[in-house]
Amino acid sequence: MPGITLVLHDRPTSRFAWNALAGAVLAHPASSGVPVAVARSPAEVVRAAAAALAEGRRPVVGWSFYTASAAEVAAELAIVRAALPDPRVVHVAGGAHASGAPEATLRAGFELAAVGEGEETLPRLLAALAAGEDPRVIPGLAWLDGGALRTSGRAAPVDLDRFPAGAPSLGRAGPIELTRGCVWACRFCQTPFLFRARFRHRSLAAVREAVRAQRAARAVDARFITPSALSWGSADGGCELGAVEALLAAVREEVGPTGRGARILFGTFPSELRPEHVSPRALAVIRRFCDNRMVILGGQSGSDRLLAAMGRGHDAEAVTRSVAIALECGFRPSVDFVFGLPGETEDDREATRRQLARLARMGARVHAHAFDPLPGTPWAKEPGGRLDEATGALLASLHESGRAYGEWR
Ligand code: SF4
Repeated sequence: MPGITLVLHDRPTSRFAWNALAGAVLAHPASSGVPVAVARSPAEVVRAAAAALAEGRRPVVGWSFYTASAAEVAAELAIVRAALPDPRVVHVAGGAHASGAPEATLRAGFELAAVGEGEETLPRLLAALAAGEDPRVIPGLAWLDGGALRTSGRAAPVDLDRFPAGAPSLGRAGPIELTRGCVWACRFCQTPFLFRARFRHRSLAAVREAVRAQRAARAVDARFITPSALSWGSADGGCELGAVEALLAAVREEVGPTGRGARILFGTFPSELRPEHVSPRALAVIRRFCDNRMVILGGQSGSDRLLAAMGRGHDAEAVTRSVAIALECGFRPSVDFVFGLPGETEDDREATRRQLARLARMGARVHAHAFDPLPGTPWAKEPGGRLDEATGALLASLHESGRAYGEWR
């Protein structure tokens, strides 16, 4: 066939991943001419793939998803396959679930699973298919061969500066990824295990470039994706406040004065602050350059024993202190907690309930999650979290008074 069309299966939870990957496809010399169609439902995937076939192009449908939506995506794939059972359509899965559990992903019906970071793998895959070559020599792919899992190895970690943060020409100008990977290795979290346990920061010049591209695409706000917002510029998990200040000053210069146009949102969705980084000086920097007066803090548990077991690198007191500082500095803190963690005892639950009640009394909101064993993490084989009655009742009462939200049920 003379060409390829990339059809992005775009779900709300894959939006940020596709921003980065669509940007990489447009920017990479191997794939820059490939037409990209965006489809937001199985019916739209079928329409876009059928249109490509009618033009004589081979459709490559890209799916990106987390473990929580793996079953739903598999059902959507089955719908698409039933509606368009054409062997020329190639379905490729990527994202955290495909990387952590490639075999299960492939058994759901995908031809290929992308393992690791996709900025190099996807453009090279499209180029190989367009040239009629076998793509399975490209690093970062997995497939089934007579029912057995085969892989071309993991894709190498990419340098963020080599790729744009989004694809504004396709209307995909979302939050700018500041940092990939994480030096901490919390046992429930996929970030350090999928992207390596070290930080890779986008440089100041590349962040400026990304903000300019966003502004040109009339994106409303400057937001950032990072595992730990105040770690930007740090190699080791510390907080280089001078680097963060230079970063935010540069972003403010690009965005323009406060109150006139776009806002800068930092340390809030889709990123957060580590509690031990929160200080009056750090919050003064955020207050000076940014528009948000709400920050998200990683708390996870009120039990020091569990915090140590999960490898968080801070204790419960650090969380209480960070909430107090945030409130004193005029920020409303929202604190992440995970319930039903592996090995949790009644003493741990009691400590967490005391912490929840204390933080709520102080004025914080609780962002509650149930533990979800994610593929690729040390706790992948642990049972999913179950919320005990007493903690459930406390969360329900905090929820009623607007002091808890999230997906803990
Ligand atoms: S939970 Fe946050 S700090 Fe811990 S490993 Fe994941 S991204 Fe890093």
